[in-house]
Amino acid sequence: RALSPERSSEKVRVVVRCRPAHGEETAGGVALDSSSCQLTLHRGATGSVNFTFDQVLSQNAPQAEVYDTAALDVVDDVLNGFNGTIMAYGQTGAGKTYTLSSTDTEAVGIMPRACLQVFTRIDQHPQEQYTVLMSIVQLYTERIQDLLLPTRIDLAIREGPDGVFVEGVHQARVQSPSDCFDMLRRAERNRAIASTAMNAVSSRSHVVVMLTVIQHGSERLKKSLSTGDRANEAKHINLSLTTLGLCINARADPNQSFVPFRNSKLTRLLQDSLGGNAKTSLVIAVSDALEHVNETLDSLNFGTRAMMV
Ligand code: ADP
Repeated sequence: RALSPERSSEKVRVVVRCRPAHGEETAGGVALDSSSCQLTLHRGATGSVNFTFDQVLSQNAPQAEVYDTAALDVVDDVLNGFNGTIMAYGQTGAGKTYTLSSTDTEAVGIMPRACLQVFTRIDQHPQEQYTVLMSIVQLYTERIQDLLLPTRIDLAIREGPDGVFVEGVHQARVQSPSDCFDMLRRAERNRAIASTAMNAVSSRSHVVVMLTVIQHGSERLKKSLSTGDRANEAKHINLSLTTLGLCINARADPNQSFVPFRNSKLTRLLQDSLGGNAKTSLVIAVSDALEHVNETLDSLNFGTRAMMV
């Protein structure tokens, strides 16, 4: 579908979310200044490193604020006919799942909130007819599996006139936010089962939730796509994650015209998002724990490169 020219220069919006240290962890790894969007990482004897991002959320930022900062505009864009992607990146335990997909009623995450926003909009336009479809897949060792079905068939990625899609993926018709919550919980259960069956650690897999909003009577197919990106400690065995980094680097480098999207399943699936045809925001999830400063540094460096895309 034709997109307005200014879309193609859309930058990735990078937001850092730092969770407080918990359990046995020692606080004090990260100092944040939301007003200047700056962050300082304290690395003890090695010294401090400063970073600037599009937004730096305070440590106790509630889920609603995270949503308003990282997702609201993206979902608005989707409701206006563009593609949108919200991603989370960070080490295991840094808060990606909590941020993106928590269905805990005390701390509802981005994806369920996006569903609420979509259905609020639909309710405000009773004269229009909408269909909302939800698909959830897991990527693990370059295999794609449907998390809404109990089957364990490997799915393929294809390219069509509307961009890349997962062939044969189950598209559940959702008619309310609570339908969406049910699907997210079903996916979480299937993921646990699939992970056990494949002897996979969840930290090495990626979850992609796709929400498609179709407005009838219009040529516009609206699509939203969100991914839960797990772990960077398993980089060496995680082709998708390595390739994501290479694609971000290539997109950030004005002298490099070739972006290796096709080298992994995750980047193929996110090709339209990283290629500039979509509004994309990236939440860098880190923790304040002194024990994790090296992983935090890796994640912040990744976010810095994404700022240049
Ligand atoms: P990841 O998906 O990155 O591996 P999780 O989202 O599972 O990490 O988070 C790890 C733990 O930390 C969970 O128990 C989660 O509830 C908690 N947590 C994550 N982010 C926050 C936060 N911002 N505030 C409070 N607790 C958090």
